[in-house]
Amino acid sequence: MSSIQKITILGSTGSIGVNTLDVIARYPERYQVFALSGASQLEKLAQQCVQFKPRFAVVLDAISAQTLAVLLKEKGSATEVLWGASALSDVSCATEVDAVMAAIVGAAGMQPTLDAARAGKRILLANKETLVLAGALFMDAVRESGAALLPIDSEHNAIFQVLPPFYRENPYAANLQAAGVKRILLTASGGPFRTMPQAELQHVTPDQACKHPNWSMGRKISVDSASLMNKGLEVIEARWLFNAPEKSDISVIVHPQSVVHSMVEYMDGSVLAQLGNPDMRTPIAYGMAYPERVDAGVKSLDFFSVGRLDFEAPDLQRFPCLQLAFDALAAGGAAPAILNAANEIAVEGFLNKSLCFTNIPRLIDAVLNECTHRATAESLGALLAADQSARLAARAWLQAHPLC
Ligand code: NAD
Ligand code: MG
Repeated sequence: MSSIQKITILGSTGSIGVNTLDVIARYPERYQVFALSGASQLEKLAQQCVQFKPRFAVVLDAISAQTLAVLLKEKGSATEVLWGASALSDVSCATEVDAVMAAIVGAAGMQPTLDAARAGKRILLANKETLVLAGALFMDAVRESGAALLPIDSEHNAIFQVLPPFYRENPYAANLQAAGVKRILLTASGGPFRTMPQAELQHVTPDQACKHPNWSMGRKISVDSASLMNKGLEVIEARWLFNAPEKSDISVIVHPQSVVHSMVEYMDGSVLAQLGNPDMRTPIAYGMAYPERVDAGVKSLDFFSVGRLDFEAPDLQRFPCLQLAFDALAAGGAAPAILNAANEIAVEGFLNKSLCFTNIPRLIDAVLNECTHRATAESLGALLAADQSARLAARAWLQAHPLC
């Protein structure tokens, strides 16, 4: 790797993208932005281009490209505008690029992330949907190319930090049992509806769901956190990321303060945890600087104002999405891809007020039942076909069912 790391940020206008740029701005001598991308918020993307001077900015379509090019010209920016899915892959695989921050939301982020893995880049993986959709395939690509894969999701970053050094040096080939790990303990905040009675859940609004008690995030992951589907996706993410055996123990513990970011229990009875303020700049800076550490601009954890750390079991009755994800992982094959696709449509439906909150798991369950038996996971094409047919089935379910 050259002394200055050149970084492409997929999804720079989102919550993770903005936090990544905040870290980069602190270290102009360490990091340089090669390319930025965004699907909307073109004015914000243009401002980022002016500040960080990337060689390329990538948008979704020709019309957005034209709009962005005008904005950049007005601002005197020399950034070149590209558009479309293949441009996202091009700026992720370019020979000049050292690291790719995968921070597009949803399955849309999978292809350029996979291409970056195949090209052997350092992957800073925020886009958990890549591993839910195509975990085995993606990890094979990482192993074959020798790409470095650093988890950015705070729980997985925490686990990575407390795994033994020899495991971190040869991470994705080793297995957890050989590292002496008994189980992974994923912490979950429980979301904004943790204590809400079942009867009230039906009436919650998108704005309530997006008001997370501890984290400020994009709207899709905020709804996932409220339904506990986020934790379900993270269980699947952990299974692939840490090469956890089929029957390995990945437990979820609700921890409302979001200070313990996750834990690993070893066979000798030790439990190691990583703690810190809930601020995504910590895992982002860790992934970017690894194996070194840099100041991420995060406040010191004030134990006295935190006061106490609580732990409780997740309530699978009120939050069935978590169970659906455990079941999809156990079913294997294309089931996680179907779960993910159905969830994306359900969340979109909830956010545009055509689906009530409690119908999110009902829709996903119905789509899993309809699609899993005829889908396979034998290739990327098969997984993408499963993803597409799950989206169609989910849209049909939305049409056929009243709001609640
Ligand atoms: P966000 O909605 O704030 O940002 C998403 C970014 O992706 C934006 O730049 C948007 O323009 C772009 N985008 C959206 N749809 C696209 C498409 N179809 N094609 C190309 N680009 C598209 O989301 P976020 O909260 O930053 O989350 C990004 C990813 O990181 C998600 O996979 C999420 O699960 C994961 N993650 C986020 C957090 C967090 O704190 N926000 C924590 C852990 C993991
Ligand atoms: Mg997380």
